[in-house]
Amino acid sequence: MDERGNMIKENIYSVKTKIVEACKRSGRNPEEVTLISVSKTKPLEMLKEAYAAGSRDFGENKVQELCDKIPEMPEDIRWHMIGHLQTNKIKYIIGKTALIHSVDTLHLAEAIEKEAAKRKLVADILIEVNVAGEDSKLGTSDIEANKELIRSISAFPHLHLCGLMTIAPYTDDAETNRPYFRSLRELLYSEDMRRYFPDKPVLSMGMSGDYEIAVEEGATHVRVGTGIFGERNYSI
Ligand SMILES: *Cc1c(COP(=O)(O)O)cnc(C)c1O
Repeated sequence: MDERGNMIKENIYSVKTKIVEACKRSGRNPEEVTLISVSKTKPLEMLKEAYAAGSRDFGENKVQELCDKIPEMPEDIRWHMIGHLQTNKIKYIIGKTALIHSVDTLHLAEAIEKEAAKRKLVADILIEVNVAGEDSKLGTSDIEANKELIRSISAFPHLHLCGLMTIAPYTDDAETNRPYFRSLRELLYSEDMRRYFPDKPVLSMGMSGDYEIAVEEGATHVRVGTGIFGERNYSI
């Protein structure tokens, strides 16, 4: 394997080791945590290196890129849609993704419901919560609005509400995101909401800069891009 292949393999190993350590610190079982390799903007050869290193969960944030990559990669991969989803593009990914992390409005949920019903399938989804109320992020930070969204979505027959997702603020000090991760877990496990989620709910939280804190706070899925594939270059 070339040097870069080794780099990706070593990065995955290092991230997994840190996940195991975070689990130990918080009395969790590492098997509860799935590492999603966020491969957006990265070429197929790098995804294949991550696959060779054992990665089976990949995250992408653009429909076109996802559709281009899926047929080029092995079939046992679970694809995660983690970016903003436009209603007119649902038809291209429905049935192809293991989990849609970014359902932020009732309008989008209705559109996925419609498309899933058409294909006679049930789509696994997460509701994206804007924990810190940042303008740049999807979803709302309003707790009542999120509860209303949870209730409404759970009634759709072709949507399976698996849990919640958030993107915490970008920070140099991951510890400052701990309260945000905690608030997402608290929303999911709150007395009036817990019944809307499955036995083993998904908490998709934590990225390269803060996944260890997220795991300590209960993340079941961490989404790591830079920490596995290196910096992204958007100019090419
Ligand atoms: C890009 C992206 C990530 C990965 O970010 P890194 O900081 O590179 O680990 C995780 N989640 C979402 C929703 C993203 O768009």
